[in-house]
Amino acid sequence: MTTSLHDKIAVVTGASRGIGRATALALARAGAHVVVTARNREELDTLAQEIEALGRRALVAAGDLSDTDQALGVAEAALATFERVDILVNNAGVGKFGTLDTLTIDDYDWMMNTNMRATFLATKAFLPGMIERREGWIAFVGSVAGLNGLPNETLYCASKHAQYGFARSLDHECRPHNVKVSYIAPGGVNSYFAFGTGRTQGDPKLETYLDNEDVADAVLFALQQPPKSRIFLVGLRPMGEQL
Ligand code: NAP
Repeated sequence: MTTSLHDKIAVVTGASRGIGRATALALARAGAHVVVTARNREELDTLAQEIEALGRRALVAAGDLSDTDQALGVAEAALATFERVDILVNNAGVGKFGTLDTLTIDDYDWMMNTNMRATFLATKAFLPGMIERREGWIAFVGSVAGLNGLPNETLYCASKHAQYGFARSLDHECRPHNVKVSYIAPGGVNSYFAFGTGRTQGDPKLETYLDNEDVADAVLFALQQPPKSRIFLVGLRPMGEQL
């Protein structure tokens, strides 16, 4: 028996493209109403129309989630419209690859603030309501880079390890309150990730990577577990990846 997501209220961060966009649509197909957030309002507006065409409600709440005021503004908008949030998908993330000598202090701030700080701010905003209602789901779109050290990925791995540690601790805190925590750890995904900062759009290698929908399916699989079951870690890799 799976758990129905019908009429649940979900927030998906980094929903303007890639994995977040696919996850928002998968949630809507499963019956959830979806708050879509990222910085690019135009892409979010298009996505919201697609969600509404599926018969679900959508709210566009644009903002830079690494910025405290903007993240709180997004949370306020979500709660003002839907009064509660049942599902948070912490997906927004960025990466820059290269040996450490090529990475800058600004790169550090960018990756840590987007991958970890935004996760912290969104989780802090929505968890209290879940605990109060004794029901909730917090999914992280983490990475294999959160579980392993990888060459040319010092800062990205550090930011994703931070997010993984946060999720593991949160899982302990949340379980007694009937709030489920899931960390999805994909290998390479054919999204828009790291274009210009380590990956090149059109590179044929991207075709061998997972599709955004594969990761969305894994998120939904974790969220739809029966009431007694919780899936903390989902590792998924492209067939062609060595890791
Ligand atoms: P993507 O296509 O580049 O999408 C990233 C999303 O994050 C976009 O919607 C972007 O929207 C949003 N975002 C970036 N900075 C933001 C900020 N400051 N505030 C709010 N939103 C922000 O990449 P993706 O592959 O779908 O990435 C999603 C997640 O998957 C990330 O956490 C990434 O670490 C993880 N992941 C990716 C891969 C991969 O190979 N692609 C593998 C494993 C894990 P705006 O630019 O509109 O703000």
